[in-house]
Amino acid sequence: MNPEERAQSDDVFMAEALRQAQRAYRRGEVPVGAVVVREGRIIARAYNQVELLKDATAHAEMLALTMAESVVGDWRLTDCTLYVTKEPCPMCAGAVVHCRLQRVVFGASDPKGGAAGGALNLLQFHGLNHRCEITAGVRQDDCAAILKAFFAERRRDPSVSPARPPDPSADGSSN
Ligand SMILES: [Zn+2]
Repeated sequence: MNPEERAQSDDVFMAEALRQAQRAYRRGEVPVGAVVVREGRIIARAYNQVELLKDATAHAEMLALTMAESVVGDWRLTDCTLYVTKEPCPMCAGAVVHCRLQRVVFGASDPKGGAAGGALNLLQFHGLNHRCEITAGVRQDDCAAILKAFFAERRRDPSVSPARPPDPSADGSSN
């Protein structure tokens, strides 16, 4: 795949991660979505479910990685790429290293808490036994906009839950 083709397919897979983020938004969850891609196919998709599952570890990336491991039938995801709308936190970046993912692609960066080069870089930490390739800023504006809209809405009316996504026409209403 040449760089242009890769950028194009990164856009397509990030669009699906964004659809997952929209689902989180509709359920009043911090809108982060993730997909895992292997050999050009999405094998897992998930959105943040911390509130629903009452589980602080239920970040989109964690759920997508667990799903991908079960699809692959192995904890090693060495030929997989994770697409996530927001830069992974230290927990998720740690999980990515444990699963030995080949590459992580993210949208919005998180200079305060991101662990893929924002606040720190666990994905390429010299002391760890695995390092991943990082591609930052794919559909950055869309990925950041949905987070911004969510927190702006929360500030206006903290009681509103589940929240409404910025684009109600996207992705049906069934689930
Ligand atoms: Zn996380």
